[in-house]
Amino acid sequence: MKTRVLKINDLQRDVNIIEQASELIRAGQVVAFPTETVYGLGANALDPRAVEKIFKAKGRPGDNPLIVHVSKTRDVDRLISELPPKARVLMEAFWPGPLTIIFKKSPIVPDKVTAGLNTVAIRMPNHPVALKLIDCCGFPIAAPSANRSGHISPTTAQHVLEDMEGRIPLILDGGKCSVGLESTVLDLTAQIPVILRPGGVTLEMLQEVLGEVRVDINVLKPVSDGRKVKSPGMKYTHYAPRAQVLIVRGKLDGIVERINELAEEYAAQGMKVGILATRETRERYGIGEVLVLGGRTQPAVMASNLFSALREFDDRAVDIVLAEWVDTSNEGLAIMNRMVRAAGFNVIDV
Ligand code: AMP
Ligand code: MG
Repeated sequence: MKTRVLKINDLQRDVNIIEQASELIRAGQVVAFPTETVYGLGANALDPRAVEKIFKAKGRPGDNPLIVHVSKTRDVDRLISELPPKARVLMEAFWPGPLTIIFKKSPIVPDKVTAGLNTVAIRMPNHPVALKLIDCCGFPIAAPSANRSGHISPTTAQHVLEDMEGRIPLILDGGKCSVGLESTVLDLTAQIPVILRPGGVTLEMLQEVLGEVRVDINVLKPVSDGRKVKSPGMKYTHYAPRAQVLIVRGKLDGIVERINELAEEYAAQGMKVGILATRETRERYGIGEVLVLGGRTQPAVMASNLFSALREFDDRAVDIVLAEWVDTSNEGLAIMNRMVRAAGFNVIDV
């Protein structure tokens, strides 16, 4: 299959491109499209055969459910069996935006989408191309991140092409994703709302609107054997570049000192070393390929650069990435949630 990439510069002028994409999706095909979080791999959420093609293109395990994307709040009604009052408040406050809400599902949502769960994950993306595409289709679009399963999520159309060439007919290019990390996944089916996956809508933002909010124990820790996870995606290795990743946690001076020591040791073994630094520390590293996430006081900026930095290390063919731990408040929680998974939970304390 030939994969075409079509750039959307002006939504009004390029509306015919969106129409082509929606025609493919209506015919049961899979199309990659931009959102503000990461690029998605979309198909008709109400057609199990189309949804099956997403799993196939990604190589995604069938027990990992998909997020259903809508363009209007009222699109949610027929997908769910119950609308909790808290959900109404959240949709008002954060949609369109990087917040996915878990609802009890209605019978029209195929089991394939929810991996057999009786709940469904729904969000309204804050991206004009995504919203127009959903509108044009006239039905909700199921979409996971448009990467091969286990690999780093794509934040540009070029990233999608690297993973999906020959596997899907069309990629819509809407430029770089502004948030750069996947949405926050919030479970509202328990008494107290629980963040299953942190993202662009932060714990602090949710607490302001909802009061008490919990963070699932597996956000920064591996799932212990035998524990039943609420979000199946949490048990899989994720976001992994080809290089091994090692995170160093502690006081900033200690982190820099240890990374410099490790860099020397690995380089002496003939390994090509990458260092994931911050603006405050970049000048303090002596050797290695140093990439800067952003300033430590700007977690949203660091978040938006994380996945492209990990891909860049792959392009530079580094063997090991030494990464600094960053503060886990605000978007920092989402950054470290992705980083510890990229590192296979390899964290050194200093
Ligand atoms: P992705 O679309 O690749 O960003 O992954 C979607 C994430 O949402 C995964 O971590 C899923 O496990 C999670 N998810 C989707 N549907 C549900 C659901 N019904 N309950 C809990 N987690 C879900
Ligand atoms: Mg994903």
